[in-house]
Amino acid sequence: MNYMCLNTIFEKTFAGTWIAGPNIEDAISEARKFNAVKIKSIINYLGEEFDKVENVDNAVEIYIAVIKEIRKRHIDSDISVKPTQLGMLINEKVFEANYRKILRVAKNYRIFIWLDMENAKYVGATIKAYLKGINGKNSGICIQAYLKRSMDDIKKIVAKKGTIRLVKGAYVENRDISYNSWEKTTENYRRLLLYLFEKSNNFTIATHDLQLIKYAEHLNEKYNKTINFAMLKGIKNRTLTLLAKKYPAYVYIPFGTAWLQYSIRRLREAGHLKLIFKSLLENQSIEKQKNGA
Ligand SMILES: Cc1cc2nc3c(=O)[nH]c(=O)nc-3n(C[C@H](O)[C@H](O)[C@H](O)COP(=O)(O)OP(=O)(O)OC[C@H]3O[C@@H](n4cnc5c(N)ncnc54)[C@H](O)[C@@H]3O)c2cc1C
Repeated sequence: MNYMCLNTIFEKTFAGTWIAGPNIEDAISEARKFNAVKIKSIINYLGEEFDKVENVDNAVEIYIAVIKEIRKRHIDSDISVKPTQLGMLINEKVFEANYRKILRVAKNYRIFIWLDMENAKYVGATIKAYLKGINGKNSGICIQAYLKRSMDDIKKIVAKKGTIRLVKGAYVENRDISYNSWEKTTENYRRLLLYLFEKSNNFTIATHDLQLIKYAEHLNEKYNKTINFAMLKGIKNRTLTLLAKKYPAYVYIPFGTAWLQYSIRRLREAGHLKLIFKSLLENQSIEKQKNGA
């Protein structure tokens, strides 16, 4: 079997579990399926680490097109953008200008914009841009529990009434700046979550970890907040459907042709094939639930 053939098989099976397809239309129709079972979507255009101005400009145009399409087609969806798609590698000013441009358009169309969090080297500049651009309830930022700095970052963001999407973190980071084990990262997630329950009214619990979900529900018995849950397309979406009966729930739906890096991160997390095949089955189950099966 040659490389091209392997490439196609991977794209059609594994990547297809996590990714809507190559075009905006694929993301819209996937979002519509989740909307039908009361799950809102967060659409993301694949691709990262753009170092050419034309790729960055193209990404900005694509996001603006997605914003307009979401509104035109009456889809219940946010958008999530990556700083390195918007020019972070060219320089911070280019990134900030593009981020603000997207925020302006999104505000007109009443679409919520999330900032994805990438490698630790971009975290400072990403948070800086977010804190400058906070505009009412229109934007949020992802914070990674595996980074030791995250409690300080969360305090700054909460003080400015920002909106946080709390994740464990998907990149490979240096031990000096990150918790280097699953246990320590999970422990820090619990600590950050408790802080959010105590001090914030705007946060999303973005994890597939059932113990953390139970912990959040337990905390909510005391704090009684409007809590939001979010998961990635293709992972534990049956659980998400159940959560959506009780809480606002979101599914993160990537689309585009640059599926490789995103898929490598998902493969690394899945750890073994059994979980990947389980994901494939869960993906089909959204279709069945939509059809009332
Ligand atoms: C909505 C959303 C947005 C995100 N945005 C970002 C971001 O901007 N930046 C960032 O660094 N990370 C982001 N992530 C990814 C996140 O950091 C984690 O890498 C990912 O969610 C796995 O961690 P977990 O909390 O689910 O816990 P884990 O302990 O990794 O997983 C819990 C359980 O979920 C299942 N599971 C997890 N991953 C898979 C998989 N790939 N296939 C099959 N089963 C799986 C397994 O049963 C596992 O035991 C996001 C995640 C979500 C849900």
